[in-house]
Amino acid sequence: MKEDYYDILGITKNATSAEIKKAYRKKALKYHPDKNPGDNEAEEMFKKSAEAYEVLSNADKKARYDQFGHAAFQGGGGFGGGGMNMDDIFSQFGDIFGSAFGGGGGGGFSGFGGFGGGGQRRVKGSNLRIRVKLSLKEVANGVEKKVKVRRKIQADGVTYTTCDTCNGRGQVAKMTNTILGRMQTAATCTTCGGSGQILDNKPSDADNQGMKVSEETVSIKIPGGVEEGMQLKVPGKGNDAPGNGVPGDLLVAIETQDHETLKREGDNLHYDLYISICDAVLGTSKEIDAVDGKVRIKLEPGIQSGKILRLRGKGISSINGYGTGDLLVHVNVWTPKELNKDQKEFFERMQGNENFEPKPEKSDKSFFEKVKDMFS
Ligand SMILES: [Zn+2]
Repeated sequence: MKEDYYDILGITKNATSAEIKKAYRKKALKYHPDKNPGDNEAEEMFKKSAEAYEVLSNADKKARYDQFGHAAFQGGGGFGGGGMNMDDIFSQFGDIFGSAFGGGGGGGFSGFGGFGGGGQRRVKGSNLRIRVKLSLKEVANGVEKKVKVRRKIQADGVTYTTCDTCNGRGQVAKMTNTILGRMQTAATCTTCGGSGQILDNKPSDADNQGMKVSEETVSIKIPGGVEEGMQLKVPGKGNDAPGNGVPGDLLVAIETQDHETLKREGDNLHYDLYISICDAVLGTSKEIDAVDGKVRIKLEPGIQSGKILRLRGKGISSINGYGTGDLLVHVNVWTPKELNKDQKEFFERMQGNENFEPKPEKSDKSFFEKVKDMFS
């Protein structure tokens, strides 16, 4: 049985909209997750209050609720089953608390973050970003790339002392007047910039935070099957943070080079093969491009234009580790555009000849049917 929305907020049915708002603010503050870390019951109450407020603060929904109770919102009503999620609630907070925090939508709620996690915050160094360009072969099989990265590290001989202002916490408590009354919020310590430490001994090659730039070679393992625009993360290879902080990450943006003759489609590769009408008639073998080099394939006599030959496992290895794609060779028979007298006479003799008349069989599917098969 769902609890009554008025009971949840601790108000009567006669409550004015101002009273409803006030009651909700009280509940939201009391049960806010940052104030009750790890307390599931408080979180549940926090959600329930938000849901109750969502309905009772809206004249239309309130009227429906007053008339039908919870049944008013079952099935498509929004809150029938799962209730509100935290994102909904915090976006709702913009209306309730927004003005108190300067009206900056979205991020304006950080004041509650405060000392939530407990313990000392460790400052993280900034991330570094690089681009890596890969050939199709590297994409197909995966590759280990060594790249030079200029990252900040702590200079030799640097020492730090604990910041007096924040006692090494990196944050200071700040009382703020808000619409909710005076509230304690946390602000980054301006003395140490949040690191909790002050530079004590500064060698000549160090910057104001005791850092210097060092060029390092970082090895990046790139799995097969990556795509243009993907980003890989090499943890800890960004800039170090001053003092006892943790290093940032190296973010690697993937760029891919087009191949001259091979086209990628998912994990499969496509190759367009052009053969002469004589090769199509008599059969032959041809060398084609595969991602690892040349491959020789055999063409049976009488091969049709539009035939697709599938070379299994000659494509791109799946980024999820599910095997490797195929290389699909599309056969195109080239019709000569110029003929000498003899050749012309030959084809004139063959025109209408029974052997030259198309007799497609079931197995000679149309191009579109083949494509359909390929993707089914
Ligand atoms: Zn400080």
